[in-house]
Amino acid sequence: MKDNVMASVLDTPVEYVKGVGPARADLLKKELGIYTFGDLLTHYPFRYVDRTRFYKISEITEDMPYVQLRGTIEHIEIAGQKKGKRLIALFKDGSGTVELVWFQGQQWMAERLKTGVEYVVFGKASVFNGRLNFAHPEIDPVTPEFLQQQSSFEGVYSSTEKLKLRWLGSDGIRKLQRHLVQQLNHTQIQETLAPSLLKQYQLISNTEALKQIHFPDSQLMLEKAKLRLKFEELFFIQLRLLRLKGFRLQHSKGFVFHKVGDYFNSFFHQHLPFQLTGAQKRVLKEIHQDLKSGKQMNRLLQGDVGSGKTLVALMSMLLALDNGYQACLMAPTEILARQHFATFSELLKGIDLKSAVLTGSSKTKERNHILKGLSEGNIKIVIGTHALLEDKVKFHNLGMAVIDEQHRFGVEQRARLQAKNTNPPHMLIMTATPIPRTLAMTFYGDLDTSVIDEMPPGRKPIKTHHYTESARLKVIGFLKQQIALGRQVYIVYPLIQESEKMDYQNLQMGYDQLILDFPAPTYQVSIVHGKLSNDQKEREMQRFIKGETQLMVATTVIEVGVNIPNASVMVIESAERFGLSQLHQLRGRVGRGAEQSYCILMTGYKLGAESRQRMQTMVNTNDGFEISEVDLRLRGPGDIEGTAQSGMLNLKLADLSKDGQLVQLARQAAGEIIKSDEDLSREENNIYKKELHRQDKNRTNWSKIA
Ligand code: ADP
Ligand code: MG
Repeated sequence: MKDNVMASVLDTPVEYVKGVGPARADLLKKELGIYTFGDLLTHYPFRYVDRTRFYKISEITEDMPYVQLRGTIEHIEIAGQKKGKRLIALFKDGSGTVELVWFQGQQWMAERLKTGVEYVVFGKASVFNGRLNFAHPEIDPVTPEFLQQQSSFEGVYSSTEKLKLRWLGSDGIRKLQRHLVQQLNHTQIQETLAPSLLKQYQLISNTEALKQIHFPDSQLMLEKAKLRLKFEELFFIQLRLLRLKGFRLQHSKGFVFHKVGDYFNSFFHQHLPFQLTGAQKRVLKEIHQDLKSGKQMNRLLQGDVGSGKTLVALMSMLLALDNGYQACLMAPTEILARQHFATFSELLKGIDLKSAVLTGSSKTKERNHILKGLSEGNIKIVIGTHALLEDKVKFHNLGMAVIDEQHRFGVEQRARLQAKNTNPPHMLIMTATPIPRTLAMTFYGDLDTSVIDEMPPGRKPIKTHHYTESARLKVIGFLKQQIALGRQVYIVYPLIQESEKMDYQNLQMGYDQLILDFPAPTYQVSIVHGKLSNDQKEREMQRFIKGETQLMVATTVIEVGVNIPNASVMVIESAERFGLSQLHQLRGRVGRGAEQSYCILMTGYKLGAESRQRMQTMVNTNDGFEISEVDLRLRGPGDIEGTAQSGMLNLKLADLSKDGQLVQLARQAAGEIIKSDEDLSREENNIYKKELHRQDKNRTNWSKIA
């Protein structure tokens, strides 16, 4: 114990809570992942009900949430046969009568219920045979003690069917919380935030907060409890991230790219087909600073669709080559990897440099050739998919790794790419579309960030329209007009895993209809979807790229990255089924040439409020940063692209979509501490070190058990 971290009372196994014991403890572990006092205490109520308020039966309607009644039972009977057998109690107050119904444990209930005794009933009303009833309500005789315990903020807890069978529904769990809080009255829960911090941010102690969140004395105390606990969650995430970042800067030596050499210079002066935008220049400078600093770069590159991230990636990679290293770029799909390869090959034409593309479908002979070239070092640049991560892929000397569209990859894949050299290569991580600041701060908080906030010149803003089926003919007419002007058109159908089969049917039907609306030989249509072989996909893409087809029907396989400047109209079918960032990403496929481009969102006539707002947002703005903020507000962080790892954070109270300000405060607080004491070695910061250590320990225990 002495030199170990003192075990916190929160780490006590949950079976020692009064009323738990080994069997229920087992169930709590299996069903809710509750192993310890701490786990139980952080199984917070998901809402609160007012148990001091009683409704009159005459006020009750079916659509009300849980309500509480007070009255007596007039009549009890068992009705029905076998499976339909149920216990019915007629319950009345001065204003009316309702039925209370039990389908299970009828006998047990029947023995306990008495007519003429006053009861409090708590449940949710539903209508059956035109009458209001309450199925399996809570029912308690009215006693002075009972009434005294009624609180205006009674916690409601999530539970499971199995737990309910063992009397651990919401009520059961609340009883355990009550016991636990009483048990803890005699012990001090170790505080995790220093007094100075509590004071600075006006936070209550954790002991108080944990009590109040389960059994609030008032609305105000409930708010204070939530604030404190949310802050704590976010603070330790930030502290961990900033510490990681500091640690890396301190300990991981980066390759020093001190030279700007021939590769970079001849590309920049002789091959670059246009001027860099101011933002691209600035970002390249930021990257260059990192590369010569002696520290390993870990940089997030944010920029809107079409802002020119690829070029920045390429030029950074050339710096690696200039200093004798290899570089790689990993993209999430085969199409995108091959497209990047084509772009790079075009841009690098005339520069003596060997590059390759490696994907899952590379043929054995070709693959072996590439693997050899990479390990011997004569292939300088490789572009690929996940295939790059395989153990067989060995580099002679990888100095720079770029990940395109990071949201398609996990943290683990990032780490595997980094392990491709004994000393980790510099990492440049690119997002597909902008992500909101608070999310970036949380998910990529250990990275440095660069933002391209300027579009290449000469782009006309894309015009976006939202139509329903009744405007179909008008849309077809418009497309024909655009095609007559020499433009090309994408038509995209949703593909969502759960309904894949139906989606393909829709796609096929859409295609069949389309070739009627756009008959050959005047019109030619390409089709690309996930069920085609890579060769077929490639052939269809090529036909479109060469202009042999005017329309391209596709599922979202073309969602990312594809760059065909002559395509200037994007039609998105069933647009309501796409998220905002996906819509924005799709729209970004057009507007790449000099022509006026259009995005047409087709939806059903009836739309939910949220879908309507999504369409409206798309129509109103082209700004990806603005869109990402709306997306976060509408959907919450769990669903936002770019945050595939959101489960990892295990946030119980804080909500990144609503608590943005708190995220910033937490980061500020953590930043101040790390700035003056990177290792948390000072006495006053020991408290944080201990808590981080405790969290780590719990995490590892977890992974052993789970
Ligand atoms: P994204 O940031 O979405 O990956 P890309 O890198 O694919 O964007 O760039 C989009 C298009 O803009 C490409 O056709 C690219 O050649 C072009 N582009 C990039 N930078 C510039 C620039 N400075 N001036 C003009 N066009 C540019
Ligand atoms: Mg891109």
